[in-house]
Amino acid sequence: MTTKWVYAFGDGQADGDGSMKALLGGKGAGLAEMTRLGLPVPPGLTITTAACNHWFQAGGAYAEGLWDQVRAALAVVEQQTGKRFGDAANPLLFSVRSGAADSMPGMMDTVLNLGLNDETVLGLAERTGRPQFAWDSYRRFVGMFGDVVLGIHHSRFQRLVDEARKDRPASALSVEELQVLVGKLKAVVADHNGTFPQDPHEQLRLAVEAVFRSFNGQRARYYRKTHGIPDDCGTAVNVQAMVFGNMGDTSATGVAFTRNPKSGAHAFFGEWLPNAQGEDVVAGTHTPNPLNRLGGIKDGVTLEEAMPVVYAELDALQKKLEAHFRDMQDIEFTIEQGKLYLLQTRNGKRTPAAAVQIVVDLVAEGLLTEEQALKRIKPADLEMVLRPVLDPDAKKKCIARGLDASPGAASGKVVFHSEEAQELAEKGESVILVRLETSPEDIQGMTMAKGILTSRGGQTSHAAVVARGMGKPCVVGCTEILVDYGRQLFYAGDTVVRRGDWITIDGGKGEVYEGAIPTLAPPTDAGAMGKLLSWADSRARLKVRANADTGADAANARSLGAVGIGLCRTEHMFFEPTALRAMRQMILAEDEKARQRALNLVLPIQRADFVEIFKAMDGLPVTIRLLDPPLHEFLPARAEEISTVAKDLGVRVDVLEERLKQLHEANPMMGHRGCRIGITTPEVYNTQVRALVEAACQVMKEGIVVLPEIMIPLVSMPAELERCRRQCEETAEAVLAEYGMRLDYKIGTMIELPRAAVLADKIAAHADFFSFGTNDLTQMTYGFSRDDMGKFFGDYVSRGILVDSPLAVFDKEGVGEFVKMASEKGRAARPGIKLGVCGEHGGDPTGVAFFHGIGLDYVSCSPFRVPVARLAAAHAALGYL
Ligand code: PEP
Ligand code: MG
Repeated sequence: MTTKWVYAFGDGQADGDGSMKALLGGKGAGLAEMTRLGLPVPPGLTITTAACNHWFQAGGAYAEGLWDQVRAALAVVEQQTGKRFGDAANPLLFSVRSGAADSMPGMMDTVLNLGLNDETVLGLAERTGRPQFAWDSYRRFVGMFGDVVLGIHHSRFQRLVDEARKDRPASALSVEELQVLVGKLKAVVADHNGTFPQDPHEQLRLAVEAVFRSFNGQRARYYRKTHGIPDDCGTAVNVQAMVFGNMGDTSATGVAFTRNPKSGAHAFFGEWLPNAQGEDVVAGTHTPNPLNRLGGIKDGVTLEEAMPVVYAELDALQKKLEAHFRDMQDIEFTIEQGKLYLLQTRNGKRTPAAAVQIVVDLVAEGLLTEEQALKRIKPADLEMVLRPVLDPDAKKKCIARGLDASPGAASGKVVFHSEEAQELAEKGESVILVRLETSPEDIQGMTMAKGILTSRGGQTSHAAVVARGMGKPCVVGCTEILVDYGRQLFYAGDTVVRRGDWITIDGGKGEVYEGAIPTLAPPTDAGAMGKLLSWADSRARLKVRANADTGADAANARSLGAVGIGLCRTEHMFFEPTALRAMRQMILAEDEKARQRALNLVLPIQRADFVEIFKAMDGLPVTIRLLDPPLHEFLPARAEEISTVAKDLGVRVDVLEERLKQLHEANPMMGHRGCRIGITTPEVYNTQVRALVEAACQVMKEGIVVLPEIMIPLVSMPAELERCRRQCEETAEAVLAEYGMRLDYKIGTMIELPRAAVLADKIAAHADFFSFGTNDLTQMTYGFSRDDMGKFFGDYVSRGILVDSPLAVFDKEGVGEFVKMASEKGRAARPGIKLGVCGEHGGDPTGVAFFHGIGLDYVSCSPFRVPVARLAAAHAALGYL
C-alpha cells in the first residue's frame, strides 16, 4: 500500500480530523476539523509530518509518490475554487505555512500569494479588476518568498519598499510604482539565486522544502530543547487557497480569541485591520483595531461597528468553535469583499492567570470536569499567577504607555539586542529587552530578559504572544517611545533612556517607568486559583508546607495554602543588627560564661520572632532548624568592616583578625557548621531551644496551639543526633518546668548527607521525624558546590551531560535513591516516623512526583511555590506526572 502523505480538506470534507495532530500538525488537524464542522475554510491540503521526517532521513529527498498526491489534491482545490494553479487568466494562489504538532516559534513563517509570476499577476489584475491589488500582492510575494524561502535577509527587500513608499503606506503606491518595485525585488532575488522562479510548481516545491528545513533550524531546535519537544516529531506543511483581506474596504484580516488571553475573562477578544493581509497583524508592523468594545476598550473603529453582519457571523462561529474544542481558541480570519473565512483555529496561548480562570470557568460551564481542569494546568505555571505587582506607594515616574501584553512587573537594565540580553542575564544581571518589534530570532534573548518592551505591535504581535506564553511581563505597541538602535537609546517624551539605564515595566498596565521600582507580592490564593487548588487538595495525598523565617512569610504561606512550616532557617534571625552584634560578641568570647552573656542578648530577639511565627501558624506544625551555617559567616570579611566591627565590639583589630583566621575554612559547606556547632558550642542550640520553648509558652497562654518540631541539621553520625537531642530535651524540660507548662514538641533531623541516608535506621532511633535537605544532599551526592557549579554547568548542558540543574530539577536516579533508602530504613526502624522534604525540590514538580511515589508525608517549599506543589501533588496522585 502506498503511504498517504497528503490530506486534503475543503467543501465540508476532510481526509483528516482534529485528533490527528501528530501527523497533520496542530494547524493541519485544526483545518481538517474546522472543515468537517462546516465552517467557511478555504480548501487546501496538508503534507504530513511523516513526509517531513522522511525528507530528513532521505537526506533531503521527497518521499516517493508525494508530489503525485500533491498534484491530485491541487486538482481538487482547482475544482472547488474554479481557478487553476499557474493559469494566466484565472490563477489559483496558495498560502504555505509550517505546522508542527506543537506550535513552535522559529519555524518557517507563512508565504502568501504563492503562484504569482509575471503572467499570473496580469490575470489576477484583469480578473479582479484591481491591478493595484494584484501588483501589491506580487510585491509582497516576491519579498516573502525571497526572505522566507530563499533566506535573503528581509531588510534587503524592506529597504526597497521603504524607498518606494516615501512616508506613504505601501497601499498608496501606484500600479506603475509597484511594477518598478517588483522588478527591483526580483533583481535582489536574482542577485542571490540566479533568477526568481516563475513556475508555480517550482515555487511550491521550494517552499515546502524550506518549511522542512526550518524544522531543523537553530531557533526551532532551541525552542524544542527548552520545551521538551522531541526532535523527531517533524512539521506538516499546509497549502491552502488564498483569500484576500486586502481587496479594498470591505476586506479585512484579523486574529480573535474566544476569551481574553490575558485575564481569562469570558469575553470575545481580538484585533483586525481593514484592507490588509494576515501578516500585517501578526508581524506587529501595524497597530490594529479592536474587534469590539467588551472589556472597556475605547480606541479604534471596531469590526462590530464597521461590519456588523460579518462580526455577528464571526461571533457565532467563535462560540461554536470553543464549544467544540472545549478550550479557548485563537482564530485567524480573513474577510474578502464581505465574505468571512476562517484560516486557522488552535488552542490559544494565554497568561498563567488566564489559564486558571479559563479552566475554572469551563468547569462551571459544564465543558470540563474538575480533573480535566487540573490536568490542563502545568503546576510550574501557578508560580507565575503570583507575579509581583508594583508597590502602589512607591514613587514612580511613568515615561510611556503602550499595550498591556503580559502581566507582572519587572525592572532591569535596558538592552536593545537579544544577544546582549543573553550575555548580561548570564552574568546575573536583570535586563529589559527593548525592541521596535521582536521576531523569532529574539527568542533566546526574550527567554533571558526579565521583561520585554516593544514600540510597535498589537496584542497578537510576536512579542506579546511569546511573552505571554513565557509568563513574562511585556508591554507592546508603545508608540510613545522612539527607539534608536544605532545610538543605543530610546526617547520617551523628554526622557532619554540609554543602554544600561534601569527601567521598570508593568505588563498588566502597559506602562513604562524610569528606574527600578519596588514590587509587592501579588494577591494570594483568591478566586479561580483558590478553587482550582481546592480541587487539587481533595485529590492530593502529599501535604504541602512552606519554608518561612518570619511571621509575615508564615502568614503569606498560610494564605497560599501551606499546612505548616517545614523549615524555619533560624540563621536569618541572627542578621538583625542587635542579634548580629551579640552573635559576634559570642563568637569572640573567651569563655563559656562570656558566650552565654552574649547569647542572652540574642534570646529575646529570637523569642519574639518565634512568637510571631507560632501565632501565624496557630494549630499547624512548625519545624524550626537550629543554627546551620558556619560561624565565620557572622563575622566581617572586608578590611574596612573588620576595623569598624572591632571598634564597635571594643576588641583589638588583630584579635578579631586572629579569630577570623581560626574560623577560616577551605570548604565552608563541609566545614564547622550544622550540628557540629551544636556539639562544640552547645550554648548556641540551648539558647535557641530556650527561646523557642519560651515563645511557645507565651503564646499558649493566649490560646494559640503550638506544634513545634526542633530540627538538627547536617547530621551524619547517629551519635551527633543523640547528643544534640539530649541537650535540647534538657533545656526544653527546664524551661517548661520554669513555666509550669506542658508542650508537645518533637525533635528530629535533616537527612542531607549521604552517610545519614545510609545510616537512617540508626539515626531514626533518635529522631521523631526526618526532613530531607535535598539542596545539601544533592551537592554532597554529586560532590559539587551549589554556590559555584555555575562555572561548569553551561558546558555540561551544551555537551549533553546534564539537561537541567539537579539543584532545580530533582535527580531521581541518584539523589532519589538516597531519599528512598533513608525513608525505607527510617520507617522500618521507627514505624510512623514523619517524613518530609525541605530542599528546593519540595516545590519542583519532578521532585513532588517522586516524593509522592515513595510515600513521603509532606514537601516544604518557598511560599510562592506552595500552589505549584499543591497542584503537583494532585497531578502526582492522579498519575499526570
Ligand atoms: C537543604 O540542604 O536542602 C536545606 C533545606 O537546607 P539549606 O538550603 O539551608 O542548606
Ligand atoms: Mg542544608
